[in-house]
Amino acid sequence: MPEAIAEIQRVKQASQRAVPITVAPGDGIGPAIMQASLEVLEAAGAQLSINTIDIGESVYRAGHSAGISDAAWESLRETGVFFKAPITTPQGGGYKSLNVTIRKSLGLFANIRPCSALAPFIPTRHPEMDLVVIRENEEDLYAGIEHRQTDEVYQCLKLISRPGCEKIIRYAFEYARANGRRKVSCFTKDNIMKMTDGLFHRVFDEVAADYPGIATDHWIIDIAAARLADTPEMFDVVVMPNLYGDILSDIAAQISGSVGLAPSANIGVHGAMFEAIHGSAPPLAGRDIANPSGLLRAGVMMLLHLGQTEAAERIQNAWLKTIEDGIHTADVYRDGVSTRRVGTKAFADAVIERIGERPERLAEAHYATASAPIIPVQPTAPAPAKKTLVGVDVFIHSRQTPQALADSLQCCQAGEMALEMITNRGVKVWPNGMPETFCTDHWRCRFMAASGETMSKRALIDLLDRLADAGIDFVKTEQLYAFDGERGYSLGQGQ
Ligand code: NAD
Repeated sequence: MPEAIAEIQRVKQASQRAVPITVAPGDGIGPAIMQASLEVLEAAGAQLSINTIDIGESVYRAGHSAGISDAAWESLRETGVFFKAPITTPQGGGYKSLNVTIRKSLGLFANIRPCSALAPFIPTRHPEMDLVVIRENEEDLYAGIEHRQTDEVYQCLKLISRPGCEKIIRYAFEYARANGRRKVSCFTKDNIMKMTDGLFHRVFDEVAADYPGIATDHWIIDIAAARLADTPEMFDVVVMPNLYGDILSDIAAQISGSVGLAPSANIGVHGAMFEAIHGSAPPLAGRDIANPSGLLRAGVMMLLHLGQTEAAERIQNAWLKTIEDGIHTADVYRDGVSTRRVGTKAFADAVIERIGERPERLAEAHYATASAPIIPVQPTAPAPAKKTLVGVDVFIHSRQTPQALADSLQCCQAGEMALEMITNRGVKVWPNGMPETFCTDHWRCRFMAASGETMSKRALIDLLDRLADAGIDFVKTEQLYAFDGERGYSLGQGQ
């Protein structure tokens, strides 16, 4: 490192207090890209006091089912800032996803994943793309609530909450405003999942009304994914539930040049975690060939979060200049475009050599005047609705035909409740089912209040008692409620 830079650093270090952060080197390519990133951060004058923890494969194998020890949790709680390399989740049952555990335990509800082209220096079919995926991080199918209910059928619960939607959608609009972005798009599948994705869409429309200066649109996720892969330049900020955001951010990163380029920030009220979007890439481990850019750029996001804007700007501009100079790792190296194929360490050295330089053609970063990090706002809880029990779906494991099942269920119904329909994987098979419908051994049997109005929980328990006495194998019940008179459950398909 040139003497002058070292001197500037010494002066700066003397005048600023180092901020405690927790660092995990991770697994696979993790240690190499973390080492490379930390060297660049240090050379750029980042003021960090590092507490290193072990997470991942070795910790899983030592008996911690979530891949993290109690002492590591303590460090995370103390610093509230986590710079994390990717980890390997061992195959097989019994291991929980560490990423999901950390995001949910620390309430890191917003996952921000910028993906932009670096054309013409990094080849991409989409030289104009410049979008930010804002992925909901705590809910959806990632609740990890899965069950096997019958010989043939397994289920995974998709949970979407109003505060969860409001937090992430408001964050997306605040992000757009703070970063001079013009449009926020929402992706859901609410034509099919009318209640869960429907809520996400509805809250999007409600929150959008508070940001009249920002354009908005909503897309059904399947066509949105096709357009994002084909014409990403039409999107700016995109906000979506967890699973769609997970998948589409990898696609966006890959089509911008390489999955190895993209960073992510996981933001919450009580902390923040910064990581690359890719995994531990075991085939590349120990070979000094992985691209450290995703993690390094996550480090830039971390410095911005900490208010260390000058160091962040120095790194981003030196990194852009390195890319412009054609110094590329193997994943983005192209003959005729790149000038030097380098390994992980040499790439970091090249960035360090360029600290203080600026890109000539790519857009230079100006963070010195960056707006303050967005402080997540806790959504206000709506007033409790008047909740009325109007029926129950009883899920039954049976090999009977729909008519035989209906006959045995009708023998058990009494008093307040009557069997209304039976569906198999959501398709109505009784009454008036179609003989062509393929049926599994898993039936949803809907009983409604005989009065057409409300029923008591006692009536439900009595019904289950009678089903148990009749030897009917019920595997789950789901109460049907009206909220302030509005139906709180989907109708059976075919109705
Ligand atoms: P992956 O992202 O690790 O790798 C897929 C492929 O992408 C690699 O084989 C490589 O060709 C390329 N790639 C990824 N990162 C690169 C980089 N920095 N430079 C160059 N090329 C790169 O995905 P995977 O193979 O599905 O998962 C491997 C492991 O990582 C699994 O155990 C998975 O659970 C874990 N994982 C961890 C995280 C995380 O810790 N945040 C995220 C995703 C996957």
